[in-house]
Amino acid sequence: MESHYSPLRVIGEGSFGRALLVRCNNSRQEYVLKEIQLPKNQSKLENSRREAVLLSTMKHPNIVAFREAFEADDLLCIIMEYCRGGDLLQRITQQKTTQFCVDDILRWFSQMCAGAKHIHDKRVLHRDLKSKNIFLTDDGTIKLGDFGSACVLNSSKAFAHSYVGTPYYVAPEIWDNKPYNNKSDVWSLGCVLYELCTLRHPFQASSWRSLIFKVCRGAYPPLPDHLPYELRCLIKHMFKTNPKDRPSLHTILTSHRVSRLLRSHF
Ligand code: ADP
Ligand code: MG
Repeated sequence: MESHYSPLRVIGEGSFGRALLVRCNNSRQEYVLKEIQLPKNQSKLENSRREAVLLSTMKHPNIVAFREAFEADDLLCIIMEYCRGGDLLQRITQQKTTQFCVDDILRWFSQMCAGAKHIHDKRVLHRDLKSKNIFLTDDGTIKLGDFGSACVLNSSKAFAHSYVGTPYYVAPEIWDNKPYNNKSDVWSLGCVLYELCTLRHPFQASSWRSLIFKVCRGAYPPLPDHLPYELRCLIKHMFKTNPKDRPSLHTILTSHRVSRLLRSHF
């Protein structure tokens, strides 16, 4: 049954609505309520509902927990776990110029991969993995969130074409009008990993044209020498311009060298 919630404050504002911190009137627990404006157009309605449907099918320690969803007037409300640590972009910005330690980077990264692997195992693509859509709990656990761009990878129509991501994290095949696939999510996670290692985007430019050019060549500024060799190698592989050459999340989490590196820093 649908509970009642009292708003506490706005914590995020996006293109489709707001994210509010709310308190459940019965349990007194805090949650996030994401409001999504529902379109009048029936055919677009299913698209807007997809976010709630897909999030509700996920159950993993590194994915934001779904509680319930309901519709009120022309709003879809998704109630989910509140991640008190905020999003990873805020965390990166707080650092100013102090680099994260390798332990934190690898712990966060392996949790992101575990969450993303769960998504892929359910034949879903997230399609908008970026530091702003990755949240942290109080105890520093990673939770993947914002399933607003996610889609099901079904067998008949293996890949979806429409893509509206943040340009910094978009894989070369998307600029090349090729289908979005599981390795495109791996590219985006590579961008987040690079961001954690340097506090900068790997592909940055003053115009779209030169950004796309850099992405399509896979040309990024070299990583600092103090980072473990295996970590620099992993990033290099995640930025292979041909998606077939990129490791899958399964490979990242189980292949020898990388998984040993991740385990040793857990
Ligand atoms: P949008 O589709 O508008 O990008 P998001 O789901 O990404 O919506 O939410 C917008 C912002 O609100 C996030 O970047 C984050 O800062 C905050 N936010 C959303 N959900 C949560 C949550 N469960 N816990 C903590 N912060 C959240
Ligand atoms: Mg978002």
